[in-house]
Amino acid sequence: MDDLVPPREADITYETEQPVRYETNGPVAWIVMDRPKYNNAQNSQMTYALDDAFQRAVNDDAIKVIVLAGEGKHFSAGHDIGTPGRDVAKSFERRLLWADHVNKPAAEMLYTREQEVYLGMCRRWRDTPKPTIAAVQGACVAGGLMLAWVCDLIVATEDAFFQDPVVRMGIPGVEYFAHAFELPPRVAKEFLLLGERMTAQRAEQFGMVNRIVTREALKEDVQSMALKLAAQPRLGLWLTKQAVNHVEELRGKRTAMDAQYHMHHFAHAQGDLTTGNPLGGQDARSMVAANKKQAGES
Ligand code: ZN
Repeated sequence: MDDLVPPREADITYETEQPVRYETNGPVAWIVMDRPKYNNAQNSQMTYALDDAFQRAVNDDAIKVIVLAGEGKHFSAGHDIGTPGRDVAKSFERRLLWADHVNKPAAEMLYTREQEVYLGMCRRWRDTPKPTIAAVQGACVAGGLMLAWVCDLIVATEDAFFQDPVVRMGIPGVEYFAHAFELPPRVAKEFLLLGERMTAQRAEQFGMVNRIVTREALKEDVQSMALKLAAQPRLGLWLTKQAVNHVEELRGKRTAMDAQYHMHHFAHAQGDLTTGNPLGGQDARSMVAANKKQAGES
């Protein structure tokens, strides 16, 4: 199979029917990405399962706090650009009021798809009425950033790192463009232009990470933080997160993302026109190899 061509629906092979686990621990819902074999690469099967899980947690009055976590060595390696379960060519019952992307020609296909599964869903999850905590270990790369960033709080392990290397594809950052809100502008530029890994320790200096813990303590520490949140009044929590989110909106977060979304898709289209591939000629293998080389790993 050529990695540059997304598989036809008939060629998609899922390694699991359940790419997301939903568990509860007292008043805390744990939404756990569960594709450890592929470092929790996000295919549509996963994003729709995440959306189901968020809905379930929001609908259950007994749940007061939502944790988003990843099974295995890494939180998330990003969007699925090369596993047998890559399902770009598959239709799902949509959650937002967009048309189906599958039968759309040329650039319209990805433009439509990513409005739903990336930008649209991320905004939905960010606006959940319950506080959310991302529990991040290992890699939190590209599409992985979007999942951590939609959460209200981020707890990272000592060995966690953050990276958005998509400039190598000719793309100005992932679809949920919060980079310049999570980081000071000059640091956001460095992060995007060089595309290098940022350690959890450095991310904490800019307030992108709330707390750093050991890998062994991650679950326990996040659960205990969640229980502290759960002891606060429900509506108070909702209003408080909305108040801060509103400040981000006043600073132009939504319109900045809308503007970047169009640059992002201009870049996909340019990649397609010049290399026959909306990822600018890159695939999962070439991206992993380049990331490792950059990080000095073999
Ligand atoms: Zn994209």
